[in-house]
Amino acid sequence: MRVLLVEDDPLIGEAVRVGLARLGITIDWVRDGELGLQCARSEPFDAVVLDLGLPKRDGMQVLRDLRGGGHLMPILVVTARDALSDRVAGLDAGANDYILKPFEMDELAARLRSAIRSRSGRADPVLRSGDVVLHPDTKMVTKNGTAVSLSAREFALLELLMRRPGMPMSRAQLEERLLGWGEEVASNALEVNIHNLRRKLGMGCILNIRGVGYFVPRDEQPCSH
Ligand code: CA
Repeated sequence: MRVLLVEDDPLIGEAVRVGLARLGITIDWVRDGELGLQCARSEPFDAVVLDLGLPKRDGMQVLRDLRGGGHLMPILVVTARDALSDRVAGLDAGANDYILKPFEMDELAARLRSAIRSRSGRADPVLRSGDVVLHPDTKMVTKNGTAVSLSAREFALLELLMRRPGMPMSRAQLEERLLGWGEEVASNALEVNIHNLRRKLGMGCILNIRGVGYFVPRDEQPCSH
């Protein structure tokens, strides 16, 4: 999951960045509304966390501009506890949800997942592909019912693929969604993560079409257990 954070408060911003990274969520952080609008328009984020009091362009204006321009990504508005009118205005302007300061990272992550889920029309928070089951909320992956230990990056990659079963994503698309700006990784990092996932979950868990991309097989028969 790759999330854009638009927040000018350095303490809150840093806490969110570190807190969500720990939960396996990639955060790109900008500190004013103008830049926030630009980035949200031009890059494929799964969701936006938007503060309302921002320099250069007010958060509410960013929200209106995005919705007015047809951008439908989930947007969570961050507001102060006493600003009821802000919350109402935010929801009216197209925010999916709001969160009150101060907040816990677990709550923010849960609300992000919920907003993304309802956006994609998915009621079941558990993702399945064959005998592999991924629980986005608890960060657990099982194969044939047995828990498998993954690194944060491996988990993020697998979750990304499992949210779009049967749809190949190119290396560039995967890297774009998994890496934050300025993050340096070895050029073969993606291949290493794929290799590790296949080693842990079985060769067939991630397929690739040469020159097109990687994908997980689509489940023909949804599991009932
Ligand atoms: Ca602010």
